[in-house]
Amino acid sequence: MRTGQTQLFVPGPTNMPEAVRQAMNVPMQDMRAPDFGGLTIGILDDLKKIFRTETGRVMMFPGSGSGAWEAAITNTLNPGDKVLMARHGQFSALWVEMAERLGLDVEVIDVTWGAGCPAQKFSRRLGADTKDEIKAVFVTHNETATGVTSDVAAIRRALDESFHDALLFVDAVSSLASIEFRMDDWGVDLAVTGSQKGLMLPAGLGILAVSDKAMTASETATMRRAYFEFSDMLRMNETGYFPYTPPTQLLHGMRKSLDRILFEEGLDNVIARHHRLAEGVRRGVAAWGLDLVAESHRVHSDTVTAIRVPEGVDARDVIRIAYEEFNTSFGSGLGELNGKVFRIGHLGDMNEAMCLTALSVAEMALAKAGAQMRFGSGVGAAQNWYARVEVSETSSEAPQPARLTIAAE
Ligand SMILES: *Cc1c(COP(=O)(O)O)cnc(C)c1O
Repeated sequence: MRTGQTQLFVPGPTNMPEAVRQAMNVPMQDMRAPDFGGLTIGILDDLKKIFRTETGRVMMFPGSGSGAWEAAITNTLNPGDKVLMARHGQFSALWVEMAERLGLDVEVIDVTWGAGCPAQKFSRRLGADTKDEIKAVFVTHNETATGVTSDVAAIRRALDESFHDALLFVDAVSSLASIEFRMDDWGVDLAVTGSQKGLMLPAGLGILAVSDKAMTASETATMRRAYFEFSDMLRMNETGYFPYTPPTQLLHGMRKSLDRILFEEGLDNVIARHHRLAEGVRRGVAAWGLDLVAESHRVHSDTVTAIRVPEGVDARDVIRIAYEEFNTSFGSGLGELNGKVFRIGHLGDMNEAMCLTALSVAEMALAKAGAQMRFGSGVGAAQNWYARVEVSETSSEAPQPARLTIAAE
């Protein structure tokens, strides 16, 4: 029997605020009732603020992030279109696979798992494509398998510098509402996410933001689509309704979640909190002497940390021991990282105490799985960071001295 809470440190589904869970505890209602539409319209408006877009159109399809990937592709491209993608982790690999299955001509640039999307290679390739044969460029903003955040603005610059017309697709599934994402400033044409990560909801919605340019492309795109047809959704959304049954409880939860992010905590503060929490986890890992999968600090993800276990230790044991003995879920190593890596998800409804719990349990599970471990080393490094940052709001990346300076209130 398990007592107490099971600690959830996977990068999706994420922890859900109690207020969001309560907001979903409502009776079923008629999704065609005259007063239902206002809920949807308000949500779609506020989601635009989360994507930081004024001109984009937002849509929610019952489904998940992968469904939103498929909707983005099938509404805007033609069979056989050439598209450029990087493969540097399990999620970008799955997106490549989906694009191939749907019949696109995918040009893949393979880079080390741990590196970001290679902006310079994209830039050279786009520059050489003088006939604009590449119709779309795909970027996985935050590779959840490796804990790597890529520079989407750099890919936009690469497109602009070669006057390239390709659509810019961005997977923002594990970055939106937790890592800075700027649809309009970065000229993103299709941004996709799911409800169960930064938005702190159950899985069940695939969410897209679509630029004017992508909307125009959708008018003539000939890939087969039916359920995910943008124009059906947009026509019904105008008055706040859906072409088919929406998950109404999820929409009530979404309303509450958006209120928290936008109006109670504030999006900028949400993003700053994710950075502060992530930095503590990284300092903990550094104190253990373990390596991240992320190859440099420039690509560190503020939503998930992927940690390489020492030689001779099986990461699957670490994850199993954490779950069986300490009621704690960590993310596993995906694809080629299986057994070599475990992940701490720190996005969504998280705080310092939760991150300290994650580090503390990880220390025990690592030790029991055979790693050399000085108990408290990672926890102490994170405590030092959290306690200091709270009082002085420094964002310095330099190691902090052990002595605390408590600022006067
Ligand atoms: C979780 C995730 C997905 C898949 O989303 P689902 O909602 O599980 O379909 C895609 N991309 C990234 C980067 C993710 O983290």
